[in-house]
Amino acid sequence: MEYVVLGRTGLQVNKNGFGALPIQRISKEEAGKLVKKAFENGINYFDTARAYSDSEEKMGAALADVRDQVIISTKTAAQDAKEFWKDLEESLTKLQTDYIDLYQFHNPAFCPKPGDGTGLYEAALEAKEQGKIRHIGITNHRIAVAKEAVLSGLYETLQFPFSYLASEEEKELVKLCKETNTGFIAMKGLAGGLIHNSALAYAFMCQPEYSHVEPIWGVQREWELDEFLSYQDKSPKLTEELKTEMQKDKDQLAGEFCRGCGYCMPCPAGIEINNCARMSLMLRRAPQEAWLSEEWQEKMKKIEDCLHCGNCMKKCPYGLNTPELLKRNYEDYQTFL
Ligand code: SF4
Ligand code: SF4
Repeated sequence: MEYVVLGRTGLQVNKNGFGALPIQRISKEEAGKLVKKAFENGINYFDTARAYSDSEEKMGAALADVRDQVIISTKTAAQDAKEFWKDLEESLTKLQTDYIDLYQFHNPAFCPKPGDGTGLYEAALEAKEQGKIRHIGITNHRIAVAKEAVLSGLYETLQFPFSYLASEEEKELVKLCKETNTGFIAMKGLAGGLIHNSALAYAFMCQPEYSHVEPIWGVQREWELDEFLSYQDKSPKLTEELKTEMQKDKDQLAGEFCRGCGYCMPCPAGIEINNCARMSLMLRRAPQEAWLSEEWQEKMKKIEDCLHCGNCMKKCPYGLNTPELLKRNYEDYQTFL
């Protein structure tokens, strides 16, 4: 079994991290079973967030009796110290614990620093002093904020989207984390559903230059968990065949594409941007039938109602021209139909 040290935290975690966002979508019983199975098979790192509805509650219930054997991280999207304390107390209650191993600022638009007027970093330091949190981290989708956070030396870990589709700049960021001994937690290792070969995704993360990278796989179904567990004893190698597949994906997904993160939502016209803006890719990379259903035809038709308000563009951390992307995807969808 391979382990990763999360930078300066010194925390040693199984190379398979458990991303608990998707357990929001399953029952408490199913979630409990999944989390327990992960733990019983050696996964010791579980990541959730205050913003993931009942994910903390489900995780807390499943791990309460083994709390001292697991590493838990959660996140706060607080904008000031008051919200920070409220979130922290709520997370502690829901997770049924009196400390959080790694507490992360959840995708802030700026890098919280002492003296910036928000009181956020000061609150985190105080929570650390009180023993309510053990380490301070940050998550982000914006490369500029992520880089600033790493270079500030204020954060022990960075959580950032990373997969084999990463750009050169993103790979540099991963390298920077190694050089500064900042833990690197990779979210979206399957690029939000665009990568289907989990063995390839795992093999990519296991390359020597990424030995400090901790991927957290968002799992919802037992077979998804089983796939990742199966790589623990027999780590997949980057064979020529897998390398060819990786190159094919990179060629197909080169340039600007929607990652499906949903940070641009809600849309005043009710457009489900995170899926509609990458429909062309989904149609070609996943079974098509579901995307061509009447329900999806209706959802795609909503693109016609776009108000061109530009809100989505302002919020997209990848700087995409979202209305234009939606238009292109809609045209392609109609042709496809
Ligand atoms: S520009 Fe169109 S898609 Fe974007 S938020 Fe406004 S209405 Fe929604
Ligand atoms: S348009 Fe941008 S913000 Fe919206 S879902 Fe896609 S990548 Fe995320």
